[in-house]
Amino acid sequence: MKLTYKVSDFKYSFGYNDGKPNWCPGCGNYGIITAIRRAMVELELDPENIVLIGGIGCSGKLPQWVVSYGFHALHGRTLPIASGIKLANHDLNVIAHAGDGDCYGIGIGHLIHASRRNLDILCVVHNNQIYGLTTGQTSPTSLKGFKSKSTPEGVIELPINPIALTLSSDATFVARGYAGDKNHLTELVMEGVKHRGFALLDVLQPCVTFNHLNTYDWFKERVYKLEETGHDLTDKNAAFDKAFEWAKTNSEKIPIGIFYKEERPTYGDEIPHIVDKPLVKHDITNIDIEEVLTMMT
Ligand code: SF4
Repeated sequence: MKLTYKVSDFKYSFGYNDGKPNWCPGCGNYGIITAIRRAMVELELDPENIVLIGGIGCSGKLPQWVVSYGFHALHGRTLPIASGIKLANHDLNVIAHAGDGDCYGIGIGHLIHASRRNLDILCVVHNNQIYGLTTGQTSPTSLKGFKSKSTPEGVIELPINPIALTLSSDATFVARGYAGDKNHLTELVMEGVKHRGFALLDVLQPCVTFNHLNTYDWFKERVYKLEETGHDLTDKNAAFDKAFEWAKTNSEKIPIGIFYKEERPTYGDEIPHIVDKPLVKHDITNIDIEEVLTMMT
């Protein structure tokens, strides 16, 4: 049977604020949630087979407002939770959402290992280059010189480069989107969901309340689409070159789109016990764990 859904079917979830997002008016998160809902509709995904994991921060609330299964994880721990869910039931579409502080700060180790492990997960990072929920402190992607409550004299260190980092960690799908271009972002979410393997989608997400440098106008002058330049998304050297363009051009040019994509067996493909069917569908009624428990006592 062909499933038919409308965007409105994915609009509201369970009970928070009457189901309506309470992000600041104009927040880039609205562009991201729209792209997620549209992608689900376009791909005709069954809400019962989708799990969205949120982290800590403004972005972490997204799963509360999309009809699907959801899990609110600890700070930095969206990817371990997503990994556990995917390994338990690989029939599910698993999408992890985290902010830049969450995924590129405390959770950065998980990002590296998720990339090389190649579990079939989409990781959407709401990259607003600031800690928004805690009212405006410098984050791992804040630009050098950026002034905030926590760095009133300006950031001293260089920002994390998530594209180069995940490329060098052997992620099989690496992309960057912009929350101000919902149609393009929807396409990227769809490509990330369809990709078999670990997909990083770094999304430039203006925080209109606390980041007054990286605004919609600032991004509008700088972003351009890789696919309009003939970029070969199977060429890893070209992907690295584009990954550093933001820094090399001193923030004058920022590429968005798919930097790199390759096919490689997923982590789940390499585990013989779950190749035929998901772990949750295994019959465990006749399994005796007495011996294992005895060994451990
Ligand atoms: Fe969005 Fe910033 Fe407001 Fe958080 S603080 S909801 S990131 S605009």
